[in-house]
Amino acid sequence: MDDNDRQGRYRKRMERKQVVIDAAIDRAEREQGVLLVLTGNGKGKSSSAFGMVARALGHGLRVGVAQFVKGRDDTGEACFFRRQPGVTWHVLGEGFSWDTQDLARAIRTAQRGWAVACEMLRDPAFDLIVLDELTYPLRNHWLEPAAVVAELRARPLMQHVVITGRGLPPALREAADTITEMCDIKHAFRAGVRAQKGVDL
Ligand code: ATP
Ligand code: MG
Repeated sequence: MDDNDRQGRYRKRMERKQVVIDAAIDRAEREQGVLLVLTGNGKGKSSSAFGMVARALGHGLRVGVAQFVKGRDDTGEACFFRRQPGVTWHVLGEGFSWDTQDLARAIRTAQRGWAVACEMLRDPAFDLIVLDELTYPLRNHWLEPAAVVAELRARPLMQHVVITGRGLPPALREAADTITEMCDIKHAFRAGVRAQKGVDL
């Protein structure tokens, strides 16, 4: 096959692809808030969510972030995004349960955190809300999945919500519009590399 043949076949294939893509774009005609879940054992859930925060801020949107498990507010994303206009940032966790070992307290913390998240979810001024590690209190039954899903469904029509965390509960799987599962193929930590600034925190 000479170069002209190859070029011609490539163009035809791309033309056919273009028709299919244009038709799919035409079919997607609705504007609405989207519920996204980033789950799985691989790295990249929270950092993907914060990528969307940057996108949203670039468009001048209002963003709310609620971090459910982590107690620290000195991560790179917290230091950077908290300074940006248009961002409301709540650190609602006290670390993992193996740090606190106090079940009643963990439940109280989760429920207090959820009440704060609900205030944002009821406020149409927020265009994008990130509920980071929300799956963790759900998975431990510190929050009731049905109540959480009901609140998510009742949110303002144009509000986007991103939920991150491992162990996606079935009720949330059902309610979400977009779900991505990060697959853990390798992680430097297992080879003995400590969490690195700018990559892991
Ligand atoms: P990131 O915040 O980097 O996007 P994540 O949100 O997908 O990660 P979490 O479960 O929230 O993952 O854990 C956050 C921290 O744990 C990060 O420092 C991350 O690098 C690390 N981590 C994530 N996945 C793994 C893994 N499979 N093995 C070891 N460490 C991991
Ligand atoms: Mg995370």
